[in-house]
Amino acid sequence: MHYTEIMVRYGELSTKGKNKKDFIKQLGKNVRAVLHPFPKLEVKPQRDRLHVALNGEDDQQVIESLKGVFGIENFYPSVRLEKDMAIIKQTALEMVKEQYHDGATFKINTRRQDKHFEYDTNQINNQLGDYILENVPGITVDVKHPDISIRVEIRMNGAFLSSEKIHGAGGLPVGTGGRATMMLSGGIDSPVATYLAMKRGVKIDMIHFYSPPYTGEQALNKAKQLTSVLGKYSGNIQFIQVPFTEIQETIKEKVPEGYLMTIQRRMMLRIAAQITQNRHCTGVFTGEALGQVASQTLESMMAINDVTTMPVLRPLVSMDKTEIIKISKQIKTYDLSILPFEDCCTIFTPPAPKTRPDLAKSRKFEQYIDVEGLMKKAIDNIEITDIKPGEEFLNQNQDVFAELL
Ligand code: ATP
Ligand code: MG
Repeated sequence: MHYTEIMVRYGELSTKGKNKKDFIKQLGKNVRAVLHPFPKLEVKPQRDRLHVALNGEDDQQVIESLKGVFGIENFYPSVRLEKDMAIIKQTALEMVKEQYHDGATFKINTRRQDKHFEYDTNQINNQLGDYILENVPGITVDVKHPDISIRVEIRMNGAFLSSEKIHGAGGLPVGTGGRATMMLSGGIDSPVATYLAMKRGVKIDMIHFYSPPYTGEQALNKAKQLTSVLGKYSGNIQFIQVPFTEIQETIKEKVPEGYLMTIQRRMMLRIAAQITQNRHCTGVFTGEALGQVASQTLESMMAINDVTTMPVLRPLVSMDKTEIIKISKQIKTYDLSILPFEDCCTIFTPPAPKTRPDLAKSRKFEQYIDVEGLMKKAIDNIEITDIKPGEEFLNQNQDVFAELL
């Protein structure tokens, strides 16, 4: 079937009034942004749903793009027809035949907005049902659990038929939940945490710490590539890279080994919180999950979180690694995350970091370094890149696989 338009149903629209208006307006903007590569189509957000008129653009590509947009519950690719019963019957029959298999059941589900159309809902259901029963030998009706369901809508501007219901990404439109930063490593967890933050409508700016020459260009590009994959769910993302080498070297020199990791994390969070504040964002997200590694015990989180009053949000906090991996595969970040490029943290992680760091000691050992000076220098030297969805940073054919071999 060659679709001519897509009817989109909104997600969590339990909110009313201004929130509902903001939801619809933002979703319209986000849908337009993701469908930017298709100049001929038109996006029309309305009170109870949004319509995309394809105007000849490729329906399958548009369908794929819509699957990533938060705030969409589901959508129905449809064909727009003249309001002529003979034409409607013919198209409904074609749709059924496309999906028919031995013993299949069907149902016609009509809605009529145009009250002047010559037949009412029941008459349309019956006429189309009879026509299909006559023309598809072996098919039967099942109104409760049909294998094939044909939706018919008689609207003012035409008759719309659809036979396919596609699940949307759910959640809230990105941008309706404010703006925050994400501490993005190259690992499995932080991309998943990013996805979950975006799903609740938060617009995310990425903060990534890197330590040349201990970490190579590849590690930085991997973080950028992850960002470009996640851009599919939010549009362009600002990627902020923070030089961390001098801080790590200083900590390694001055701080007792058991506290290397805690102090590094305190410095990271301090810098992230400062950047967050400078950009008028209102929270820092991380990919931490309780109990995964030494830095992710409650005691450790307390010792690290001590450096800021900025909300630190941890969407993965109670999830098992297997659940996190499952999502990372679904959102297509897993294969990138497992590429074996050194991360700035792993290099300076001592063999036995304290799993229960003491808060007073953390504060004390930190006095051995010039916290303010190091912080300022790092923030003065950040670099910001605006990353587009799908932009390429790793040459998949050469670099990555050459390193993997
Ligand atoms: P991930 O899979 O996200 O790397 P992890 O399980 O490996 O997480 P850690 O390496 O301890 O855990 O990192 C915990 C969190 O700290 C990360 O999820 C991320 O939010 C943040 N983080 C770690 N390294 C960096 C980095 N280089 N730049 C920015 N944030 C980082
Ligand atoms: Mg990591």
